[in-house]
Amino acid sequence: MPTTLEVPARQGRAGLVRRGQALRVINTLGHQVVDFWGFGADDTTLYLSMSHTRVRAGHVNPRAGDTLLDSRREPMILFESDDSPGVHDSLLAACDPNRYRQFGIASFHDSCANNMERALAALDRKSAICPQPLNLWMNIPFTAEGQWQFREPVSKPGAAVVMRALVDCVMVMSACPQDQSSVPVNAGKPVAVHYQLLD
Ligand SMILES: [Zn+2]
Repeated sequence: MPTTLEVPARQGRAGLVRRGQALRVINTLGHQVVDFWGFGADDTTLYLSMSHTRVRAGHVNPRAGDTLLDSRREPMILFESDDSPGVHDSLLAACDPNRYRQFGIASFHDSCANNMERALAALDRKSAICPQPLNLWMNIPFTAEGQWQFREPVSKPGAAVVMRALVDCVMVMSACPQDQSSVPVNAGKPVAVHYQLLD
């Protein structure tokens, strides 16, 4: 059995995932969004790119079976499986300090962008930018007219996705700390999630 590790509520974690290994991300309580990034193992200027992935996928948000591309259009990660209803977002930017400042929060507030930086720093890496994440379980339904809304995740507790590395890469997860009542992406209650490294 693989070891199960925690991404504590409002925090981030990163791990080096070798080609052929996979990360299983578990939505333990079902209502938590996980911002997810990939970076080249030894070069963070190379990153998982949602816009490049969309060109190849032919649909807006990644789904199980998709090959996710890096910023040079090369395969980086296989979105191998998903036992949730498959509702994810890849269009909205990660929350960051300015996002919470604009909510009127004067003191420090955890954010996905900050979590990404800290998680990379724990592996002695940094990125000059915060790439567009794959926002796992983030429920942003669009109307035919292109309007969208923030909704609560539709995942069940324990649902998981498996992301298999097609090249050596660093995968980063942030248990999104969004807790503002107008943005119920985590049902207003940010919590921990879990993950496993699979061979
Ligand atoms: Zn966030």
